[in-house]
Amino acid sequence: MAKTKKAYVPPRLELLSSLGMQKHRTVDISAADSGSEDIGDVKALLAEFGSPLYVVSEKTLRSVFRTFRDTFTAPGIDTVVAYSYKTNYLPAVCAILHQEGAWAEVVSGMEYDLACSLGVPGEQIIFNGPYKRADELARAVADGALINVDNFDELDLLIAVAGNLKKTARMGLRINFQHGRQSWTKFGFNADSGDASEALQRVKKAGRKFRLEALHNHSGTFQINPDIYARAAQVLSSVAKRARDMGLAPNIVDFGGGYPSSNRLKPAFEPVGGVAAGQHLAPFAEAIIGGIGKARKVFGERPMVVLEPGRAVVDAAMKLACTVVSRKSIPGQGDAVIVDAGVNLLPTAYWYDHGVDAVAGSDMDAALGSKPVAVFGPLCMQIDVLRERAVLPPMSLGSPLLVSNVGAYCLTQSMQFIQPRPAVVLVGPKGPELIRRRETREDIFSLDKVPPRLASRRSGK
Ligand SMILES: *Cc1c(COP(=O)(O)O)cnc(C)c1O
Repeated sequence: MAKTKKAYVPPRLELLSSLGMQKHRTVDISAADSGSEDIGDVKALLAEFGSPLYVVSEKTLRSVFRTFRDTFTAPGIDTVVAYSYKTNYLPAVCAILHQEGAWAEVVSGMEYDLACSLGVPGEQIIFNGPYKRADELARAVADGALINVDNFDELDLLIAVAGNLKKTARMGLRINFQHGRQSWTKFGFNADSGDASEALQRVKKAGRKFRLEALHNHSGTFQINPDIYARAAQVLSSVAKRARDMGLAPNIVDFGGGYPSSNRLKPAFEPVGGVAAGQHLAPFAEAIIGGIGKARKVFGERPMVVLEPGRAVVDAAMKLACTVVSRKSIPGQGDAVIVDAGVNLLPTAYWYDHGVDAVAGSDMDAALGSKPVAVFGPLCMQIDVLRERAVLPPMSLGSPLLVSNVGAYCLTQSMQFIQPRPAVVLVGPKGPELIRRRETREDIFSLDKVPPRLASRRSGK
């Protein structure tokens, strides 16, 4: 029998922050992904709102959003940034991004409702995702939202639903293509198999109540290589050309999300050649804007480029503050601390080496004694590891720790597991404001019912 080989993980050098200097370093907001400069006094926040605590920095959120938008802005193209709700749909976070001019990119009726409740006009909602119900489609048509159709069954459903409505349905087609081994072909119509052309035919046949405005591709998440966006520009342009030849007139080209944040992938997931923290977005903008610049004609000379970033916009703006609740020395492994926040609040810890830092003013003065420490959560599971090796000064009981870059997918994919979930605080121009209160045991069990026949503790008669 063949021996099973362990996957080879190449060695790498890690740049460690010089903790002793952290108190005095200059603030670069674009890289505000560790430390607490953008959220103020962490100890005071924990004292007021409890530990653990998610903390959103309004300043970082606005600044990262603006940088993103400006990077993709170019003359002759109307750039729209439609924020991907599922990445972090804290209503306060969505509201800030809408103030900045973001549209809403939603993938379910629930998210659609949230966008409406935040006052986003229908024309600024992009309705994506592979499952949209008939009532949701009808509402989206009536509101004038842009519906990106995922598959033939959904196209049939939309045609059936909108056939009875007065309003013209604004629609797009989600397109996929093969690119390397891990292409996202679950979603949309394949560009090469004839499916995309068949979908165009059906839209054309459906008549004037259906206006094909957009072609869409969302190629993956945390894309390291901008080449896939250059390829998407080519593929979407060629589908647009086919559409024009049939007399359809798409003017929107939507590149989905997937742009990386400044988080750091674990070595096992890193592509060959590694990936720098805080990847520059410029090559992504070049691939997209450059590609569409060459293909203006098929998008009616004045294309609207839609981008649907999630993680690239919110990841750096949220941190998870927690507290050391015990310390250990593990034979053969070294020192460890247990904190009061687990992987149920940080599901992305499986893929990322999140920054875990001591908080200035507490243990920083002992920075000279810093060494690698395992950071465990409080769950009764061996896999509850926030970081295998954080470089930390000696920790006291009750020391605060700050986990950075937790804005994307941590909260929306968090779960209650043996502990209620923490509060969320927004640090903005008015100081800290509670934007989600801490869950209670009552919240968690409020949905449950014990049938009366089980209410007695004794079974049987
Ligand atoms: C999840 C999603 C996004 C956002 O993805 P990120 O990788 O977080 O940028 C954008 N568009 C669609 C259709 C999505 O499903």
